[in-house]
Amino acid sequence: MSEHKIEQFRVHRISIPAKAVHSHGSGDVAGITVAILEIVTDTGITGWGEASPWPVFTGTAEGNAAALHIHLRPHLIGQDPVQVEKHMNMADKVIVGHPEAKAALEMALLDITGQICGLSVCELVGGQMRDSMGMSFSIANPDFDADLDDIAAMWEDGVRIFKFKTGFKDHKFDLMRCEKLREIYGDEADIRVDYNQGLPAYDAVRCIRDLEAFRPTFVEQPVKMHEREALAHIAHVIDTPIMADESVFDPKGALYGVQHRIADIFSLKIMKSGGIRRALEVAAIARAAGIEVYGGCMFETGLAHAAGTHLMAAVPDLLLQCEFYMATYYAAEDILTQPFPVKNGRVYVPTGPGLGVRVDPAMLEKYAVDTPLA
Ligand SMILES: [Mg+2]
Repeated sequence: MSEHKIEQFRVHRISIPAKAVHSHGSGDVAGITVAILEIVTDTGITGWGEASPWPVFTGTAEGNAAALHIHLRPHLIGQDPVQVEKHMNMADKVIVGHPEAKAALEMALLDITGQICGLSVCELVGGQMRDSMGMSFSIANPDFDADLDDIAAMWEDGVRIFKFKTGFKDHKFDLMRCEKLREIYGDEADIRVDYNQGLPAYDAVRCIRDLEAFRPTFVEQPVKMHEREALAHIAHVIDTPIMADESVFDPKGALYGVQHRIADIFSLKIMKSGGIRRALEVAAIARAAGIEVYGGCMFETGLAHAAGTHLMAAVPDLLLQCEFYMATYYAAEDILTQPFPVKNGRVYVPTGPGLGVRVDPAMLEKYAVDTPLA
């Protein structure tokens, strides 16, 4: 037991506009709408957490704010913040689903625990395997010319990994964009493709075979999340590695994924697994089966990016890097007191105890959403 008790538990709903609309096989997104959790102990330590849902993928910001404030808060006031597993076990018993709310809770508890003992979150969950990792930017602007300008600026910044969001217009548009990028940047560009469930299962293999001409490093989630047999078939017949994102959320999903070999790679996201430690369980299941992992994100601020970076810093092997680009290259503004650390196309693990980043309360006020929920 620690000497600390949870005294305050506040949920802030915020919405930050994006620099440009991003289109995906499962719809358009024009901003970052999330719930920020602020836990304060009776000893004056503040821990921050973020629930970053995507309504067509995991859940809603409103639902997660309610899950935190109405359903979880009463079980946490007066409790010892260091007993992380005890609280996460409680959360699983009190509410089904809502992995983003659970990720926010674990993030804030680990942030406090790290500050108490002087260790960073990646050290708390096992240790720091790396201090930086390559960053992928998602090419998702329906106006491809605008995207090409952004890519040119990022290339100057040292960004070399680009992930096309496909399946929202037509196949010809997807092929044209991949061809154009290869033509301009040659083999120095690391091109990936993410359909976000946008391909019809009956014709997915033929479309992916066409794209293989442009040598993508992987193809992500071509078919709907529940079409796991189709995904397994695609992974079996296509030479390019296939990644499961929407089809693998948590350790149970990972177990099904390895038993049925539905993909060659799993995308790890704390918003799917319900926190960093559950994502490490997904990584362990994948590793035992020879499946690679990747550091994915949702539409997040630099706060959730920091937690995701600590997760990916703790993964034993990381060949495919990560995509924590939102705070730097997508959001109009971030909520952290210091810029989220990105340099020369690489994401750096925040240093210092806990998450290693702090939230600026003025930004929570600036982007506050106060529309009533009913
Ligand atoms: Mg994805």
